[in-house]
Amino acid sequence: MNDILENRRFFKSDKSGFFMIYVVGHKSPDSDSVCSALAVAELKSLLGEKAEAKVAGEVNAETRFILEKFGLEVPEILDSAEDEDIILVDHSDVSQGVDGLDKARVVGIIDHHKLGDVETSVPVEVLIRPLGCTCTIVKGLYDYYGKEISKDIAGIMLCAILSDSVIFRSPTTTDEDRKVVEELMEIAEVDDIESLGMEMFRVKSAVEGVSAGDLVQRDYKDFDMGGRKIGVGQLELIDLGMLNGREDELLEEMESLLDDGRDAVFLMLTDIMKEGTMLLCVSKDAGLREDVFGGEGDGWYEGMMSRKKQVVPKLEEFFG
Ligand code: MG
Ligand code: MG
Ligand code: MG
Repeated sequence: MNDILENRRFFKSDKSGFFMIYVVGHKSPDSDSVCSALAVAELKSLLGEKAEAKVAGEVNAETRFILEKFGLEVPEILDSAEDEDIILVDHSDVSQGVDGLDKARVVGIIDHHKLGDVETSVPVEVLIRPLGCTCTIVKGLYDYYGKEISKDIAGIMLCAILSDSVIFRSPTTTDEDRKVVEELMEIAEVDDIESLGMEMFRVKSAVEGVSAGDLVQRDYKDFDMGGRKIGVGQLELIDLGMLNGREDELLEEMESLLDDGRDAVFLMLTDIMKEGTMLLCVSKDAGLREDVFGGEGDGWYEGMMSRKKQVVPKLEEFFG
């Protein structure tokens, strides 16, 4: 660790001799990409580095709720990463990151997705593990460095894990996520995670008065798959009925994304109580959804909850 620090002194320091690291998650920030950035920035500060959490765009209602609940401010938006020292959390794909990432010095990656295509120019600290949430990995880092987690940071980390794992309903959930949640509950003094989780998902589910464009973008990611640009968005709702009659509007918005050089755009309408997904798809290839995912053609996929584990790998295989 100290070696890495020493190396980095060659690369950047401002006039006062300090250098600032920005910790930032992906665009269309979800709670994990914001909460893990805050948690990592605090850990870096405890380790004597100068670090600040940033976000790659407006944060969603769920994240605002979480930060407010534990008394933390929403981080500022980072417009460009160009020439900055950056730690990436919750992603490592350039297409999902803040603008200018290709011209940044990436000094760290902490993530729970497949390794993306970001390139590094300096020695880099990387921790990628197949767990349910970046915050679960970050908890392990606090333990590794022997640093205590403050109550407010423990609270937001706990919420991020409940969010990413859909209160342990997602197949991405691991035993380690459950164990870390138990430890964080104690620090954050939270004793009912089911009701806290449902409160979060009720906030997250709000669709009334939200434009179809904003709904498609709420939790949206672009992927480069064998040279093709594929978009996959997801709405996690406590009841799909809330969207009644708005499918056409959503499909229209997805069509407009196709004009931007995308080959296909998917939108997962995930019912977290029924534990399944209505998968909307627009593409130049008719029948693409059934070709990739099978199914009866009604778009409902029982048990489909995770973009990362159940949707992206099948698309990669198909387009790769
Ligand atoms: Mg995320
Ligand atoms: Mg995550
Ligand atoms: Mg998610």
